Amino acid sequence: MTARPGGSEGGQGSPAPAFLEAFRRYLREHNLPVTSQREQVADVILGAQGHLSVEDIERTLRERGTHVGKATVYRTLDLLARCGMITERDFGEGFRRYERVPGHPHHEHLICVRCGKVVEFRNERLERMKAMIAEEYGFQHHHHRLEIYGTCRECQLRDGVAPVSSPPPGPR
Ligand SMILES: [Zn+2]
Ligand SMILES: [Zn+2]
Repeated sequence: MTARPGGSEGGQGSPAPAFLEAFRRYLREHNLPVTSQREQVADVILGAQGHLSVEDIERTLRERGTHVGKATVYRTLDLLARCGMITERDFGEGFRRYERVPGHPHHEHLICVRCGKVVEFRNERLERMKAMIAEEYGFQHHHHRLEIYGTCRECQLRDGVAPVSSPPPGPR
């Protein structure tokens, strides 16, 4: 039993405790039991960098010597998403990924269709555009998500394709 909250996957900062406290408060306010299993799941996802699948989360829990059933993992992720502490992502892999919200401001994603690499970016011009586009169509902008699918530089080099601005290679 390695009880080391926070983990050290990304090796960055010590994000968990304050967020965990907020999650506990949310559970109590909604008359939901604050169980150590829920806390363990929250600790994994809120302390991680990047985009975790349920499988990633289960692996980390196993490595920590914690036993949490799949149903509890899903239920806890659902609760964390409801209280706005994690965001669900779908990168077209046939399953969801999750990333933490606190300490991780709004951003978009580039996804490599060859190796699956995910790169995060933020673009101020794009952020301004979204409001303008919404307004143009009579919408009040609420939120948005953008995923750009393509081939990363490394995969282009491996394929012997001149990288950067060349048009994307055709099928296969
Ligand atoms: Zn790639
Ligand atoms: Zn992201």
